[in-house]
Amino acid sequence: MLRAAGGRRFDKVHAPLREGLPRLLTLGAAVELIADLADHGSERGRQALGEYGARPGATVAEPEEAKVALLAMLSDVPLAWRAAAEAWAAGRPGVLGGTPMPPHLVAQAEALLLGRLGWAQEAAAATLMLREVSAKSLLALIMVPADRQRAALHAACVRDALMGEGAVPPTDEQAAAALTALRRCLVRVASLPIARHRREVFARVLLHAYAYPGGTHTSGFVEPCRCGLPRQGGARRHHFFACAPAAGVCDEVLRHLPGVALGMPHFWLLQTPRGMGEGVWWVVATAALHAMHVGRAALCPGDGAGGGAWGRATADELAAACEAARLAFRSGLQAFADIGRPPKGLGPLPPDGPFLRKGAGGRLFVVDVPVGAIG
Ligand SMILES: [Zn+2]
Repeated sequence: MLRAAGGRRFDKVHAPLREGLPRLLTLGAAVELIADLADHGSERGRQALGEYGARPGATVAEPEEAKVALLAMLSDVPLAWRAAAEAWAAGRPGVLGGTPMPPHLVAQAEALLLGRLGWAQEAAAATLMLREVSAKSLLALIMVPADRQRAALHAACVRDALMGEGAVPPTDEQAAAALTALRRCLVRVASLPIARHRREVFARVLLHAYAYPGGTHTSGFVEPCRCGLPRQGGARRHHFFACAPAAGVCDEVLRHLPGVALGMPHFWLLQTPRGMGEGVWWVVATAALHAMHVGRAALCPGDGAGGGAWGRATADELAAACEAARLAFRSGLQAFADIGRPPKGLGPLPPDGPFLRKGAGGRLFVVDVPVGAIG
């Protein structure tokens, strides 16, 4: 308001007052302050000036000088404004009943309010207080909706995986137990040095986050796959288990595990087949999912994005996609073995175990990889 009273000249002339009393914001307060300075001794006057932000030693920190400056300022504002301010100050019922409050009370009220502000955190059944926030706690707060959505998608994936080919839905207990096991697994698998692009495929399969028809990125229309089969039970089930390149990857895995019945939970939820070490299986399953993804991309380029290749694939195209997937699987295992010594978290490696063993110098090697098969 003070700034608006007389434009730039006003600002310049009365700059010492504005800068010296930064909390003096209204003409009414200025009139009131003049009265205070006139009524009280210099000590009380200095205290009143302090409430408006006067610093000791400043030009306007002394009551007499401040009064002169305030009167000079008031003489520069339009008469009607000054009259209105004086009328307001004269009729003011008292500090607590009137508005605005003096700065020290405003500051107290702000401190009181700030001390009580916070965010209710449903998950933790607690309140994050404004005065206690950190970058970490605020980030966690922002992530709550995303975490909730991810948890729902994980739960849907668990149900999808447990539904099996017979389409018998799991019981709530079965689904809850599998989800708990998956969560535990997600934390532990993160400690293994699996390449990021293979880890990403696994994460996206869990979220159903591929741009294939029926995925969460696309909607509606689900046409038969180029392998010739309908995408029965959804695109995730087809491309990451049933489609020809995916089935080829399963066969490749079964060469190491003859007689084992593999299902979607073994790959999607990293459930370890009986008799195998967890760590090795996590490497195998993530390599297999990535290989299935490679096979799908080879068979259905541009799938879900529009403008891709449609119609039944030729026998050559199908064979090429299956071969790409098989090579990607073998490459995945080899890439992990190439890190050398078994990392912590891989678990025990029996001398006659499948997939990965320890060789000369304790270094990892891939079991039974045909010569020249690595792409
Ligand atoms: Zn297919």
